[in-house]
Amino acid sequence: MKSDEWFPRQENSEDYSSSLQQRTEELYRIPDGEPDEEGLIDLAVLVLRDIVVFPHMISPIFITPGPNLLAIQEAQFNYQTMIALVQRDAEVETPKPEDFLPLGVELAVGRLLNMPDGNNSALVQGRRRVEIVEFTQLEPFFRVRARPIEEPTDVDRQTDALMRTSRDLFERCVQLDRSLPDEAHLFSLNITEPGWLADMVATAISLPLKERQGLLLMSDPQDRLKRVNWLLAQELDVLQLEDEIQTRVQSEVDRSQREFYLREQMKAIQTELGEGDIWTREVAELREKVTQSPLPDEVRAQAFKEVERLAQMPSMAPEVGILRNYLDWILELPWAFATEDNLDVRHAARVLDQYHYGLGRAKDRILEYIAVRSLKPKRARQPILCFVGPPGTGKTSLGRSISEALGRKFVRLSLGGVRDEAEIRGHRRTYIGALPGRILQTMRRAGSINPLFMLDEVDKLGADFRGDPAAALLEVLDPEQNFAFSDHYLELAYDLSKVMFITTANSIGTIPPALLDRMEVIEFPGYIEEEKIEIARRFLIPRQLEETGLETNEVKVLDQAVQRIIREYTYEAGVRNLEREIGRMCRKVARMKSEKKHFPTRLGYATVETFLGPPQFFMTEAERKDEVGVATAIAWTESGGEIMPVEILILEGKGNLQITGQIGDVMQESAQAALSYLKSKARDFDINPEVFERLDVHIHIPEGAIPKDGPSAGITIATALISAFTEREIYKDVGMTGEITLRGRVLPVGGLREKILAAHRAGLKTIILPERNLKDLVDVPKKVRDDLKIIPVVHMDQVIEVALHPTTEGKSSRHKRTHGKEEKPEAEHQSEGEKGSIE
Ligand code: ADP
Repeated sequence: MKSDEWFPRQENSEDYSSSLQQRTEELYRIPDGEPDEEGLIDLAVLVLRDIVVFPHMISPIFITPGPNLLAIQEAQFNYQTMIALVQRDAEVETPKPEDFLPLGVELAVGRLLNMPDGNNSALVQGRRRVEIVEFTQLEPFFRVRARPIEEPTDVDRQTDALMRTSRDLFERCVQLDRSLPDEAHLFSLNITEPGWLADMVATAISLPLKERQGLLLMSDPQDRLKRVNWLLAQELDVLQLEDEIQTRVQSEVDRSQREFYLREQMKAIQTELGEGDIWTREVAELREKVTQSPLPDEVRAQAFKEVERLAQMPSMAPEVGILRNYLDWILELPWAFATEDNLDVRHAARVLDQYHYGLGRAKDRILEYIAVRSLKPKRARQPILCFVGPPGTGKTSLGRSISEALGRKFVRLSLGGVRDEAEIRGHRRTYIGALPGRILQTMRRAGSINPLFMLDEVDKLGADFRGDPAAALLEVLDPEQNFAFSDHYLELAYDLSKVMFITTANSIGTIPPALLDRMEVIEFPGYIEEEKIEIARRFLIPRQLEETGLETNEVKVLDQAVQRIIREYTYEAGVRNLEREIGRMCRKVARMKSEKKHFPTRLGYATVETFLGPPQFFMTEAERKDEVGVATAIAWTESGGEIMPVEILILEGKGNLQITGQIGDVMQESAQAALSYLKSKARDFDINPEVFERLDVHIHIPEGAIPKDGPSAGITIATALISAFTEREIYKDVGMTGEITLRGRVLPVGGLREKILAAHRAGLKTIILPERNLKDLVDVPKKVRDDLKIIPVVHMDQVIEVALHPTTEGKSSRHKRTHGKEEKPEAEHQSEGEKGSIE
């Protein structure tokens, strides 16, 4: 029930309000029922079906002829109050005593007013809750004896808090709910009794009938308040939501009205100023731009066609944006502008040397190209170079220097993860939000038609159902086709033939072969320590000092510091991390300087740790012990080379082979081959062949879950296997690489230079490699070759001889004889003296 009459209203007409006031005053004059000696009141019953009138509340009710009317008439005749009883179920037509809630409310009922429809209405005022004791009359209306319930009116702290909450929540409801008059809150502030406050709120807010009935039955004011607060919070949630929706709808309406209004105004202003149409002017400007820009003829023709299409459209048409965007692209792509090449070879050589140490082959190739260009400008073909090497070996920065030497603009595009042809070639204009492909986007950035264009990570190009980006890239790089490169968005041939492309890759293995064919591979080897120190001294340190604002004569980074960073803080083929760590040190010094603190001017071995914290890499390899079943493979990885332990465990079982550690198919096969070799040679190694039936072999190649593959761990796996079965220990500082055949022959493998550099970095002393790989050693710096003992082999027998400790007399292997039970190996490790006997 939502009543707007439970307190007097002012805004109504004089008449109504005075009569209302009068009627209210009359109500107040009716006395409460007088209890008898048992404390009970005996009164006529007013049956309420679907409303609840709470104590203190004033409400109009409507009365149809029947028991209620008779009961009221009698009560009024006696100038008495009545007892309102609420039906449990509003649907019941003729309720019996048991159909009422056990609690009712004593009511004062005002004068009956006749309604136009022949019914009556009256104002009623709730007085107090009463509890039915007995029905004393059933016909023609009910009478009951009931006990008035006295409610405590004192307010303790908890009740006070509850009341405050009610008032707060109620205030917010009043603010949000348009059907509640603002005075309602004021009214609530003036109620000092907790029960009354709860009843007032229950009357004011919209509640389902069941909820009102429930509140009527709660005779304890605190309980009622708690429930009311909960209901208020619910109501508030709903109101807030309604309010938000309302506000949103309103602002939408406001905005579109405003836009409409502004547009109309704009039209009016345009006509008023006689400017006709700004749009026509804009189109004219575009036309002018197309005329002025240095475009090839067919491009200009196409651009004009698009401008005319634009002119036909109303300025608000959705296609306008698309067309304009397209025209912008045409106008902003470089079509003719070319920088002039500087073909002075000596100048070029100077520039290249100025920024890069070493890299002789790459530099030579560039200088040759420049020389040929300067002699035979027409004939010289743009070479497509592919710089291959681990990260941080200077591929990108050399590219930048080449562009500087030639005086060309420099742009880069990374192809890593590009899987979609559309990324290279763009989407057709019919797609929403279509753009040209990355090649043309990059050309726009370059701003000239002959930049030096680096395509990074060609080895990371993907391919899937969305088309093969490599095919599109072929067209980009192929001199036979790239003078008319077609982009889906542009739909105009674009000339890429003046661009000098340089691609980069970490490995050539994953470059699509058709692409690789077009390119001239130049390898960027990893650096050895001495080279790194030199690069740091000449380039990295001066650059980092300058970037941090320190003077070269004020701070010196000593070689020992660089060496320590190389050995203990970075483990890389290139110098990227080295440069970063040097930079970190310089920044720390710069900060001390700017804070006017005392700062070190010579950064040596110890300062490294002070500034960079404890070392991150130790030369752990050298600290490992000689062990049974653990051999060291040297592997090639994209970031250079790496050394990789191969571990073998032999367990009781059924002759199964298990290989773990993210191993690829080829490596799996290689492990199978190694095991088969061992089985076939069991007798030579003094192993009982039957043990293979009752033992499982587990091969694990750890190293940080990087996927590994390739045949080159073959001899390492075989070595570890033989060691595990014969229990001969393996020298920890022997590294090896080589494929193995079933007959134990050792076949050549790839990536030798990187592998050897990695072995050297890791502090290995002896390297076993296939004899046919010896030729690759020319690429390895002499210093490294001198530091290492390099042992070329053709057969597994030679590997065993170098890698395994010699058989010791009296040392028995548990796999030698046919005993069924496993014995604990007697000597897991050998004496110190035997270690490193081949160093
Ligand atoms: P990449 O492209 O091969 O990953 P970068 O070209 O980014 O490597 O090189 C990383 C950093 O090392 C750059 O600051 C670069 O100048 C520096 N650098 C690498 N090699 C050399 C070198 N030979 N001489 C001078 N600086 C080098």
